[in-house]
Formats: sequence, C-alpha cells, structure tokens
Amino acid sequence: MRLSQMLFVTLREDPAEAEIPSHKLLLRAGYIRRIASGVYAYLPLLLRVLNKVSAIVREEMNATGAQECLLPQLQPADLWQESGRWDTYTKAEGIMFSLVDRREQKMGLGPTHEEVITAVAREMIRSYRQLPLHLYQIQTKFRDEIRPRFGLMRGREFIMKDGYSFHTDAESLKQTYDEMYRAYSTILRRCGLAFRAVEADSGAIGGSGSTEFMVLADAGEDEVLYTEDGQYAANVEKAVSQPPEAVASPFTTFETLETPNTPTIQTLADFLNCSPTQIVKNVLYQVAYDNGKTVLVLVSIRGDQDVNEVKLQNELVKLAPQYGATAVLALMVPDGEAQAKWATKPLPLGYMAPNLGDDYIQAGLAGIEPKFLRLVDETAVDLTHFVTGSNQSGYHTVGGNWNRDFPKPKITVDVRKAQAGDRALHDPSQTLQTARGIEIGHIFQLGTKYSTALGATYTNEAGEENPLVMGCYGVGVSRLAQAAVEQSYDKDGIVWPIAIAPYQAIVVVPNIGDATQMAAAEQLYQDLNAAGIETLLDDRDERAGVKFKDSELIGIPFRIVTGRSLKEGKVEVVKRATKASQDLALADVVPTLQGWIHEALTQ
Ligand code: ATP
Ligand code: MG
Repeated sequence: MRLSQMLFVTLREDPAEAEIPSHKLLLRAGYIRRIASGVYAYLPLLLRVLNKVSAIVREEMNATGAQECLLPQLQPADLWQESGRWDTYTKAEGIMFSLVDRREQKMGLGPTHEEVITAVAREMIRSYRQLPLHLYQIQTKFRDEIRPRFGLMRGREFIMKDGYSFHTDAESLKQTYDEMYRAYSTILRRCGLAFRAVEADSGAIGGSGSTEFMVLADAGEDEVLYTEDGQYAANVEKAVSQPPEAVASPFTTFETLETPNTPTIQTLADFLNCSPTQIVKNVLYQVAYDNGKTVLVLVSIRGDQDVNEVKLQNELVKLAPQYGATAVLALMVPDGEAQAKWATKPLPLGYMAPNLGDDYIQAGLAGIEPKFLRLVDETAVDLTHFVTGSNQSGYHTVGGNWNRDFPKPKITVDVRKAQAGDRALHDPSQTLQTARGIEIGHIFQLGTKYSTALGATYTNEAGEENPLVMGCYGVGVSRLAQAAVEQSYDKDGIVWPIAIAPYQAIVVVPNIGDATQMAAAEQLYQDLNAAGIETLLDDRDERAGVKFKDSELIGIPFRIVTGRSLKEGKVEVVKRATKASQDLALADVVPTLQGWIHEALTQ
C-alpha cells in the first residue's frame, strides 16, 4: 500500500479523550476513531491487526478440532428468559442492549452466546456419539458497559472469539478445558505478549474452575497476586492466602472510651496506640436479590483486612434461598441516599458495633428485610479483648469478647481480600506479590447450568437422557490488539510485535523529487511484497522528518530508507524496537528481512 493513496492521518498532540498510552497511541496513529462512548471505527491499519490476531486464534482453535460457526447477534428474549438471565442482563446489570421489534417481540443484542448455542445443541445433539463437540465464532459483541473506557479495552461494541464445548461428562470437559489452556497460551505467545494464566472467580455460575489469561501491564484493570516460585497465581477476586498473625490485645477489661475523630481504622489504631489486628471493623452492605428483596448486611472483619466483594457476593448467592431468592442483582455499600430509603435515624458510621440494632431499619417496609444479616469473617471470629464500635459516634469499645459483650454472628464466612505481602497457603515462606493485568481471555468449566435450564440433553450408551456438560472459552480480540500496544510502545509511538503488526516493513523515500530514490524505493516495495513481506511505501510529498516520525508512531517493525547510501548501492534499514540501524546492499534487503521475520515468528 502506498501512503499517498491511503486514509492516513496522524495527530501530533495527545487526544484529550484518552487516558492510557495505548489508547492515545491508537488514536494518534490513525488506527481508530471514536464514534460514540465505547464505540469505535476500526480503520484500515487496525483492521489488519485484528485480522492477524483472528488468524492466529483461528489456527489454534482449528488445530484442536474446534469448528467455526457464526451465531446471530440479534437474539430473542425467550431464550434468555429460559436461562433466567433476561432480567439480570437487561435490568439489574443492564449490560444487554434490548429492543422491541415491529411484532412487539423483545430482542437483545448478544453480549455472549450461551443461550443461542445451547438452543442449537438442544435441537441438534441427540446422542453421546456426537460428543464431544466444540463450536466457536469470532464476532462483534454488544455490552452496555457502565464505564466504557480506555478505547478498545472496554468498549460497548467489541470483537470476541467465543467457543462453547459439549460433553458427556466432567472428565471429557476437563480434557477440552486443558486443551484450551494450552491453545490460549500459544495464542498469546504467538501474538508476542507477556502474560500470566491465573485462577479466576467462577462466581454464581459455580463449575469446577476457571482460568483467566492476563496480559501484564501497569494500566491493567485487574490485580493479580502470585508467588515467585511460580506455584500460585490468582486474580485478587479469587486469591486466597494466610493473613498475618493478630497481635495479642492489651485491653483486658471491657469498657467504652471516648475516641473523637476516629472513623477510620488507622485513626483509631493511632489514637488507641494499638494494632489494627486488634480491631473488629463492621462494614455495611446492601444487597438486592432477584425477587425484589433488599437485605442489609453487616460484615465484621479484622481491622487490617478488607472485604473482597466478589467473595461476599458469592456468599450472598449461597444465602439467597433463605430470602426466597435465587440470584444477586446488585451489591453495594449504601450511600446517604440509599440509607435514607430504610434507616430510621442516622447510622453511627465509623463507630458501628457488631450488635448494631435492627431498629435502625424501618419495620414493615415492602421489599426490605427488617433485620441485618450479620456475618463474621474468619479473621475476626477468634479475636478476644478486641476493639470495636459502640454504635455511638465518637466512642469505641475496647476489651470486647464474642458472646460475652457481643453476640457472635451465626454465620462465619471467608470474605477477606488477599493482599500483597500475605503468606501463601501452599508454602508460608512465599509471600504474595502483586502485578496488574489486562484480562484477555477466560476459559470456564460451565457444567450443566445452561443445558439444564434450556433442556439440552443427550442420550448415553445405556439409553438414559442427561443434560449436556458444557465449557466456554472467550478471547477479547479487539482488547488483545490494544493490550499489545499497552505492553509495547516507547516515547515515539507503537512498537508492534511482528506477528500482529499491520505491515511488517515500510519503505520511506526521503525526497520524492529525487528520481533515483523513487526508483529504488519502487523496486524494493515490489520485491518485498512479492517475497511475502507486507510492505508500505511512504511516497507522500512530505518532509523526511515527518515521514520518519510517522513510521515510528504507527510502529512498523522495519523501516527501509532510500537515502544517502544509495550512491554505494545501499539503503538504511532500521529496526523499530531497538532503533538499531544498518546499511544493507539493495540485494540483501529481502533475504535479511525474511530472516528476521522468520526468526521472530518462530521463537
Ligand atoms: P471484564 O471482567 O473485563 O468485564 P468479562 O469477565 O466480562 O470481562 P467475558 O465475558 O469472560 O469477560 O468475555 C471474554 C473476553 O472478552 C474477556 O476476557 C475480554 O478479553 C473481552 N471483553 C469483555 N468485555 C469487553 C469489553 N467491554 N470490551 C472489550 N473486550 C471485552
Ligand atoms: Mg464484563
């Protein structure tokens, strides 16, 4: 492609809409344009990157025997009602774009395809002889994300590869899952990305496990905890660890002390000159269940620890039947506005005790459970002589004991957030380290949740009908393209990994008025492309400096300049990643680049 004929517009300045380097660079280098919040035009250069990523994904999926298909993006509400997800996806989380068609039928734009694929399996899979089976697609997904941001990282319209496998049993599922683990690792390695596979939360769906593939980058939205021995890595949402030992409490008698201006653990520990491990902190949450019921939850946890809301939500799902519900729609820390809907009087925030009275909740309110759900975390359950609130602003109690001074909550849970510096469970001499990651892929052992809900069964050898056992596997193709930039750029622009660069080489003509330069460049451009090296020709009527800057900004791995050394029959060849430059004889350019590219693609 000749730049003079291309839609090629680069920006000197950082666009105001972008916060992280990869987003700024993709905009500046003319790869994407924002059309609406979380909605982007993929311009020709980016489409080439996306096609390369997709090609690698396809090759690795096909190599495992998975078959490609393409499922509808427009999906009928009935299928989502059968799985029980219509309300959560359109109302509670509100992540699904929905509409009503001219026949007054409700439809949604696919955020994911479990329902559709299970409906297909229900119709087409009859016998164990058809299993296992794995179908995948590469397609645009729609999600009305609450906070679309960072360009392609969290879009409302984005490209995903999603695959779904069907099995007779958990063992067969595990085999495919392990195969996907390897395939995903290969995909990321081939795309030139540094990544870590981590244990992930399987949430309400349950199942026997899931793994996320995290591309390591400081701008990542996820936190990963890992040990240096390589034995453990998990998303912080899922991570487990051993908390530090609690320090014995110096407070031997139970009493109430005036503790002015100590609403936080740190201010309180400083004021009392005690360790945060001697404090029981009481955190208030509000959970909305799917049957319309709201429950106020008081979690008592050791002062130096924080609540992991993903673990808490999982516990609240387990407790749902107690309230006649099946799922959690939303979990939040109630703000003033939310409290006003149910509180009888102002809450002693920062000074609450585990026995905060139920009379803070207005009795007889429709949809509000009149009693607190009281939970105690494992870190707080064995504390003695502890410091905690008094239910009175400006005062705390010290020397408290469970079941003497405060009733011990009946339900003990593990909802603490593992932190960097904690000791690892598998080997306490290992401490957890922290890293930031971008979730690029997620593989999941689903089990029979969707097949049971939609009645997708098969007949086994003995003639019995059983629900299909399912797995699902997703890769964010457009997110991956941007993550590659986030992991590989410098002050001058993008440094694409060779495997997914839109073009591998660019021939730059410093002065298009010079016939010798142009002729040499044309020849190289043709020879390189003929040799299978995807090459751009910068034949624009621009200053040489502008062209060099642009070639660096767009991140093409190899630049060939038909400049001064032409007199000796040579051209300058520059590697984008290292900026290393060398003069090569014209005849050596093609074989040298072929060698470098081959080397990069086969490491
Ligand atoms: P996240 O926690 O980041 O929202 P998710 O758990 O919702 O991700 P999945 O439903 O497992 O993601 O989707 C599979 C893959 O699709 C993710 O691993 C990610 O790479 C990609 N993805 C998910 N949401 C988005 C989005 N809004 N924009 C771009 N890519 C996305
Ligand atoms: Mg999401």
